Amino acid sequence: MPEEEYDALVIGAGVAGMEAAIDLGDMGFKVMLVEKEPTIGGKMLLLSKVFPTLDCASCISGTKTSTVSHHQNIRLLTYSNVDEIEKSKSGFRARIIEKPRYVDASLCTSCGDCEDACPIIVPNEFDFGLRGRKAIYIPFDTAVPKSAVLDLDNCIYCMQCERTCPADAIDFLQVPKVHTVNVKAIILAVGFKLFQAEKKKDYRYGEYRNVVNSMQMERIVSPTRPYNAVVRPSDGKEPQNIGYVLCTGSRDKTVGNPRCSQVCCMYSMKQAQLIMGSLPAADITLYYMDIRAYGKGFEEFYRQSRDMGVKFVRGKVAKVEQKVNTDLTVYYEDTEGSGGMKKADHDLLVLSVGLLPNTDIVKAFNGIKVELDEVGWIKVRDEGKSSVLTSADGVFAAGCTTGPKDIPDSVLEAGAAASQCAAYIIKKMGSPIEQ
Ligand SMILES: Cc1cc2nc3c(=O)[nH]c(=O)nc-3n(C[C@H](O)[C@H](O)[C@H](O)COP(=O)(O)OP(=O)(O)OC[C@H]3O[C@@H](n4cnc5c(N)ncnc54)[C@H](O)[C@@H]3O)c2cc1C
Repeated sequence: MPEEEYDALVIGAGVAGMEAAIDLGDMGFKVMLVEKEPTIGGKMLLLSKVFPTLDCASCISGTKTSTVSHHQNIRLLTYSNVDEIEKSKSGFRARIIEKPRYVDASLCTSCGDCEDACPIIVPNEFDFGLRGRKAIYIPFDTAVPKSAVLDLDNCIYCMQCERTCPADAIDFLQVPKVHTVNVKAIILAVGFKLFQAEKKKDYRYGEYRNVVNSMQMERIVSPTRPYNAVVRPSDGKEPQNIGYVLCTGSRDKTVGNPRCSQVCCMYSMKQAQLIMGSLPAADITLYYMDIRAYGKGFEEFYRQSRDMGVKFVRGKVAKVEQKVNTDLTVYYEDTEGSGGMKKADHDLLVLSVGLLPNTDIVKAFNGIKVELDEVGWIKVRDEGKSSVLTSADGVFAAGCTTGPKDIPDSVLEAGAAASQCAAYIIKKMGSPIEQ
């Protein structure tokens, strides 16, 4: 394929990457936005509502996903990986591999007939395995782009989808496409990974079905939830006594993450308030080390949670045991009150998992050193000067790429990265590519 020219390459189309791409595009810069998943939006698309305002998450992110997909200055590549980035005369040359969807997205009408015909069911990533999806699937209702994708690893080649598709969009002969792009600057917006709760062995995540992580709980309380009501996974019963273990995998040297994940206190309180809306009689207990409610309106949100009846227990959860009826007993060290080891019963336990670095992208840089900090996040060159400058000239960072952040801070930083990227392009190379 011929080489393509853009002003900037934005890697990652979560809320930060989308914001940075839109800001640059609005300034007249040509942007290539690359997302490794089949759809854009990142973690925000999975959320129900956002703290502290309880605004609908997809109402906010929906305007961004739609702007990105229609913007005349943004070329969007989904289901694509940046394979190699090297220095070039104009700045950087990147090699991007676009994976085959085995569906012609320009023909797919997202009618869902292929999904209905497919006999294979595997866990659905969007709902964190709480329900299934087919081997050929449209990732979720508000997906952008809204096109089916065939997961060949789970396909049994029964050809039912091909026979059923009214648009003739199924194409088993698709192969990966290689794009070579020349850009003047790069913005890394690769976000974060969730702490894998299985690593806290005593909490029995993955073993006891009523121990879920906080992203699964986001899905359970969301209007687009996997079940018809707020119910627990083991038996579909409405939970009446829910426990939250804050700092699961954060501020914990035993799992290699000494840092605070910044959003866990707030999102746990948010979920507690949302659950109370659906299950007014439910008791909710948050086991915490310290409550960190540092942002605008956060302290008020914390007080509101207390006033609503959420119970806050300062204590460290040591282990969890399951009863015959799949209810759970939590053993914890009381670090306030009378002290010592205590136990409490719950019928659902939510692990408020921490945010971890997702920085494999640095391996794609060939001969360019993009440094990581001691925990593995992209290192900021000089915190005092700017939070979006990396150690490499012309490479900027936004959102959770450099550390855990909430959505407003991720968006704010994306704006800063776009401005500094624009200034860099203009200073080093002259004006944006002629329109
Ligand atoms: C359970 C939970 C609840 C939360 N609730 C709230 C809330 O109520 N309010 C709030 O303000 N914040 C909340 N947050 C935090 C919020 O999710 C983050 O602030 C936000 O998602 C950060 O956006 P981002 O774009 O930086 O990262 P992400 O959302 O992680 O997006 C990164 C994107 O980059 C893509 N990507 C990664 N690597 C590559 C690569 N190599 N190539 C191409 N693409 C790549 C990913 O697929 C993804 O689409 C919550 C977090 C959790 C875990």
